Amino acid sequence: MKKVVHAACPHDCPDACGVLITVQDGRATKIQGDPAHPVTRGFLCAKVAKYLDRVYSPDRVLYPMRRVGPKGLPAEEGARATQANEAFERISWDEALDEVISRFRKIVSEFGSEAILPYSYGGTLQTPWTGASSTG
Ligand code: SF4
Repeated sequence: MKKVVHAACPHDCPDACGVLITVQDGRATKIQGDPAHPVTRGFLCAKVAKYLDRVYSPDRVLYPMRRVGPKGLPAEEGARATQANEAFERISWDEALDEVISRFRKIVSEFGSEAILPYSYGGTLQTPWTGASSTG
């Protein structure tokens, strides 16, 4: 069965572009701007217009991964290490959350709670290490 779902872009730009998503048999098959949106009138930026490519990409990360290889490798070497499963290892969600919490606690004890304050803000616009917003 095919249907069109009315939605809003999940990114937190002020305009909150209206989105129409065509869903067929439980799978999104098309994404487009909603021409009835009073502000964005059918517009989607280049990033979100390609959203389905990202959602259904075979390269999409679906599970928490912990780095086990070195950082800062040249691009080709890093890609090779990732392909060979030498750069990251899969961990459970519980392990991932425990690790994040323990690191947050360590940061708070060393530098104060202001050091993690940027993480309290929402979403995709936040640049966590500075608290500065980016666009889109
Ligand atoms: S990220 Fe793109 S599609 Fe989403 S609200 Fe911002 S401009 Fe619109």
